[in-house]
Amino acid sequence: MKKIIDSIWNVPVHVWNVPLIMVENGENEMNWALIGASTIAGQYMIDAIRAQGESQIGWVVSGNAEHAFAFAKKHDIAMASTELGAALADSAVNAVYISSTNEKHFEQAMAAMSAGKHVLCEKPLSTSTAEAGKMILAARNSGVVLGVNHHLRCAGSHRAIHDMISGGRIGRVLSVRVFHAVHLPEHLRGWRLDNPDAGGGVIPDLTVHNADTVRFLLGEDPQSVTAEMAATGMGKGVEDSAMSIWTMPSGVMVFSHDSFNHPHAASGVEVHGTEGSILAQGIMAQDPLGRIELVNADGRSEVPFDKAGIYETAVREFETAVARGAKPAATGTDGLKSLLVAEAVRKAAETGRRQTVNYGVAV
Ligand code: NDP
Repeated sequence: MKKIIDSIWNVPVHVWNVPLIMVENGENEMNWALIGASTIAGQYMIDAIRAQGESQIGWVVSGNAEHAFAFAKKHDIAMASTELGAALADSAVNAVYISSTNEKHFEQAMAAMSAGKHVLCEKPLSTSTAEAGKMILAARNSGVVLGVNHHLRCAGSHRAIHDMISGGRIGRVLSVRVFHAVHLPEHLRGWRLDNPDAGGGVIPDLTVHNADTVRFLLGEDPQSVTAEMAATGMGKGVEDSAMSIWTMPSGVMVFSHDSFNHPHAASGVEVHGTEGSILAQGIMAQDPLGRIELVNADGRSEVPFDKAGIYETAVREFETAVARGAKPAATGTDGLKSLLVAEAVRKAAETGRRQTVNYGVAV
């Protein structure tokens, strides 16, 4: 690493792409560019990437120059730019993390993959399932890894539940209930609540997470859905609440509840089987929180689980996928499938009719 040039902050606003630190890669280091100067990047992903030891963040790209520079300075990132092409032209960069608003994911990911960069993209993978399909094909054609930040399948809690189900601890699964009604924090009450074009609404925000969680826990894809949605005042032009029921190939019944406007509700997952029930509270979270109980004929017992940082695990498994040609925790196809479920939920709520989830475009 070379020294930080403090005076760079005095450059005129139009002079972007000026290095603060020259990043010099070792052969096996991963050098990331952040695309989107977002809350999730600042709160979790920068730390998660830096926790990997040798990984570095060389760039942040944002649509807003002042924001990009302020973000770079706050998080000690060498390069700030409004030009995606500038970061992608940097041969030291080998991966990008995309956390812009949802409607930008497609074009940014396509540009990154065509520049040969591995992509860890935020959910939803795109605002359109057709675009998500193109992203998966582009990753294949470019020979890069495309991962989706469905972080919940990286949580020790969800992995413990997965293992209990697959290990037969609750017998044959009968039903799953996912509670994901939260109180959207004040600082996130922007595009999510009033901008459908940016992918606002609780369905693209939270229902995709539920879809990925259920797919991960049960190892099967929802077949059809019925749903209701509502805008109860917080959502302006988009739904802020949704409830849906999903049928699974095995016959398991799934209930999913998502909302932005529940100040006192707890998140959770319940999985009920013929030999026991798993009751988990507080686990639809960004931190490794919550509590899992197993209830069966022997009584009630607490289930321990790994409390490792959820996003750290997601980044570690993405980097391993790149290094060893393995799969990331959630692949592009996982991202597309969760989007297909969410799309079916919205259509079911709009039409009042059951919708089949059409995996025909899934690649
Ligand atoms: P934010 O609203 O914080 O940021 C989204 C974009 O808004 C930024 O990328 C940036 O645009 C712009 N922006 C934010 N703050 C400013 C500012 N002060 N000035 C100018 N522009 C600003 O979004 P989130 O972090 O909540 O979400 C980003 C993405 O991450 C979404 O796709 C979301 O679905 C996903 N997400 C995933 C989570 C997970 O656990 N997997 C959790 C939370 C979000 P620009 O791109 O131009 O920099």
